Amino acid sequence: MNFAVIGSPIEHTLSPAIHYANFNSLNLADTYRALHIRPEELGHIKDVIKQYDLNGFNVTIPHKETIMAHLDFIDQRAIEVNAVNTVLIKDNKLYGYNTDVTGYKQAYTDRFGTMKRNILILGAGGASKAVYRAHSELGDDITIYARREASFETFTDQNFQRLSSLQNLKSFDVIINTTPIGLKNEDLYDVMSLSRNKITEDTIGIDLIYNPEKTPFLYGFEDKMVMNGLSMLVNQAIHAFEIWYDNKHEGDYNAVYAALDKKFGGGRK
Ligand code: NAP
Repeated sequence: MNFAVIGSPIEHTLSPAIHYANFNSLNLADTYRALHIRPEELGHIKDVIKQYDLNGFNVTIPHKETIMAHLDFIDQRAIEVNAVNTVLIKDNKLYGYNTDVTGYKQAYTDRFGTMKRNILILGAGGASKAVYRAHSELGDDITIYARREASFETFTDQNFQRLSSLQNLKSFDVIINTTPIGLKNEDLYDVMSLSRNKITEDTIGIDLIYNPEKTPFLYGFEDKMVMNGLSMLVNQAIHAFEIWYDNKHEGDYNAVYAALDKKFGGGRK
């Protein structure tokens, strides 16, 4: 079978490395291409599918919302976050899913369980919506911080508390960074004026960033209480693979982590 990821830019994507590690381990001769598709080219997606004889593809920035207009069916979770990151092609029809939600939810529950918690999500963009949906499904009490009031209105439901300042913060069980602050090692505590005062040895700290492996934000938490974005990334890829194969194959997580460890030099889970 043939698969791809479409986005712009696309050159730094880890998706081909992840999928090939999985295909190789399962002895599948499938292909997975990174395709640079500019926004103005998305209208020709059916030609791209034909050209590469695709059975499915992943969708990344900036097409996760705009791809929805080109699909025949959209899964409920994807509707709820208004974003599709996985498309299955079957009988010439396009089916859209969101495995960022399921990928994050699995990463979080594998690590920290399903206990109801008091959650603070920093940021209100695309990744924030996937994280919000996962914690909604877990029945958590959710607060979202955004620097612009208008960002709150971009969520399809509003069952969360709004926070417009991180001064005088109350205590939370979990704090999740869904902003890009930290990608260049910026100190989120300085950039967002987030006080460390309310972070205790029991507070869980999650950053969706995985490179660097440990952002300055995560250094504010106990080692055993932190999780970076790598497991979400791997889970969303494997969940996409399982959708494309209609669950006939289970993805090989170990093979994927081994390949990423080799790429990054180890210890990134
Ligand atoms: P996005 O849609 O652009 O959203 C970024 C959010 O961060 C926006 O709400 C933005 O606010 C906010 N933000 C940026 N700088 C800020 C600042 N100085 N103060 C307060 N808020 C700020 O991006 P995204 O797609 O959600 O991605 C966000 C991060 O998650 C990236 O680092 C990405 O690599 C990571 N990610 C990881 C995975 C994974 O699998 N691990 C998956 C998806 C994304 P404004 O709208 O006001 O600018």
